[in-house]
Amino acid sequence: MRLLYPRLRDVAVRAAKNSDEADAHKAHEALAGNLCRCTGYRPILQAAEQSCCAKQPDQFDAREAETIARLKSIAPTDIGELNSGDKRCLVPLTVADLADLYDAYPQARLLAGGTDLALEVTQFHRTLPVMIYVGNVAEMKRIERFDDRLEIGAATALSDCYDALKTEYPDFGELLQRFASLQIRNQGTLGGNIGNASPIGDSPPLLIALGAQIVLCKGETRRTLAIEDYFIDYRVTARQESEFIEKIIVPRASAEQLFRAYKVSKRLDDDISAVCAAFNLRIENGVIADARVAFGGMAATPKRAKSCEAILLGAPWNNATVERACAALAEDFTPLSDFRASKEYRLLSAQNLLRKYFIELQTPHIETRVTAYV
Ligand SMILES: Cc1cc2nc3c(=O)[nH]c(=O)nc-3n(C[C@H](O)[C@H](O)[C@H](O)COP(=O)(O)OP(=O)(O)OC[C@H]3O[C@@H](n4cnc5c(N)ncnc54)[C@H](O)[C@@H]3O)c2cc1C
Repeated sequence: MRLLYPRLRDVAVRAAKNSDEADAHKAHEALAGNLCRCTGYRPILQAAEQSCCAKQPDQFDAREAETIARLKSIAPTDIGELNSGDKRCLVPLTVADLADLYDAYPQARLLAGGTDLALEVTQFHRTLPVMIYVGNVAEMKRIERFDDRLEIGAATALSDCYDALKTEYPDFGELLQRFASLQIRNQGTLGGNIGNASPIGDSPPLLIALGAQIVLCKGETRRTLAIEDYFIDYRVTARQESEFIEKIIVPRASAEQLFRAYKVSKRLDDDISAVCAAFNLRIENGVIADARVAFGGMAATPKRAKSCEAILLGAPWNNATVERACAALAEDFTPLSDFRASKEYRLLSAQNLLRKYFIELQTPHIETRVTAYV
């Protein structure tokens, strides 16, 4: 089959290479980060299917062992440095080295996956004279499981967070499936999604509703902060000079927790939220015993809905309470209008998502989350 876009043909082949059988879902996932503007997706998906069904060993298969050995042999063993003119990128391998370098170069920008930071160069034409790359710090790329919590290194790729978070919180997994595209999730990190302090970052509202914490490191000093306290104002955070996010602590799920998350965006794939909502309630004998509600896209920061929570806490879990909590959202938020959504749309969406959460919990067989997009 002839495909007009060689890059899209590569996508189809890659989808085939990552899968042992024709898998429409994986092909779609691989395609999500590539917008085809001329051929349409059907022939590309057919090509992926054909490639999977008639898989032939290729040059990469023939040299697989040799390639892996060569890649391992060039793994860095000491702090690295890449220079271009007067621009520098420092590459530490340990948290201690990262802390020392950031202490020595407080003006440096931290580079993780670069899926956000790179826009400063490509879209705003800024120069970044000194960068410190955190992606080679092995301690910050691992996920540790404890009885009561997961500890996720800040430099862990979003794709690598997927299994761990999905197992605890299926809705977190579902949100990560809707986070950008596979290519961005392979490159972008959880720490970068918090570090950029975007009001429309997808993971912060979920982490806030879950009561997650972050560990901040500066020199030899560490402090643990509730993630909601990290976001102070638009792109302003509680991070001090030379301080970085080392890891994210996410409580393990408990059976009583009723956690759900919803993302509203214009496209299903590869689109940033207009509104992102996360609800985490515990109900005892029909009464709301714990309530954590957080939103993205509703304020200058990802934020808890404190008035809404106050209405919910201690109230019976019924329609009347939900309507009062919906009204309270108007006290919590004064959203902005922009090209993603108007302020009215945002507020109404937030209220409707709370109603949706209520209906879903009343009728658990109704699965409406995947249709939660504009
Ligand atoms: C096409 C596309 C689609 C996208 N879609 C989405 C989406 O659906 N949802 C969404 O939320 N985002 C989306 N993004 C934004 C971006 O991909 C995410 O925010 C991602 O998680 C950023 O991670 P990163 O590792 O690439 O961060 P980087 O770009 O490397 O860094 C981002 C910021 O965080 C800082 N930082 C990085 N690591 C640390 C650390 N350990 N401690 C302190 N600060 C740190 C950096 O200095 C920088 O200021 C999208 C981006 C693109 C290009």
